[in-house]
Amino acid sequence: MSKISNITKCPWCRSEFLNSTISNCSNCGGTLEYQKVINDIGPKPPLAPRDIPAKFIRRIKYTGNVYTMIGIIFTVPFFWTVIFPIIGIILWKKGLKEANEELIPLKDGIAVKGEITSIEFDRSKTINGKHPLEVTFSFNANGKTLTGQVGNIFDPINNIKQVGDGVWVVYMPEDPNLSSVWPPLK
Ligand SMILES: [Zn+2]
Repeated sequence: MSKISNITKCPWCRSEFLNSTISNCSNCGGTLEYQKVINDIGPKPPLAPRDIPAKFIRRIKYTGNVYTMIGIIFTVPFFWTVIFPIIGIILWKKGLKEANEELIPLKDGIAVKGEITSIEFDRSKTINGKHPLEVTFSFNANGKTLTGQVGNIFDPINNIKQVGDGVWVVYMPEDPNLSSVWPPLK
């Protein structure tokens, strides 16, 4: 089912490379080798703490984050009113909380093999008439099968992941609710 493309897209900063044989992105330094492996889980993530490219952090916290962007739109131009900034700051904080829940395990989590169990549109969020995808995955931690989600996916990286595909999951052992997919899906 997976599409084979000649273009490799950096999962961290979204730069595109044609038929690339380089293993690190020349724009952000992020690793690219996972993207060359089609229909395969790819090599295990490096040991924590991992370096997360700054461009990726900015996208997850701001430019690719629905709540943060709406929060800023409500807060900054309306700072002279009362009600809009209150709504805006609540959304802004919610956005940053979601971003941190994704960035913390990518940086410090333990890596285990997992599987994508569903890919659905998140109809609670809309930007320019488009809903983002939300990917649910399962993994084993402390002898239990757990699930996690990656949301806010407006433009999936390289379109290669399907339900049933294996992925590397990174999670925090002291709080397995903090989990994400390595490398990023968006
Ligand atoms: Zn990059």
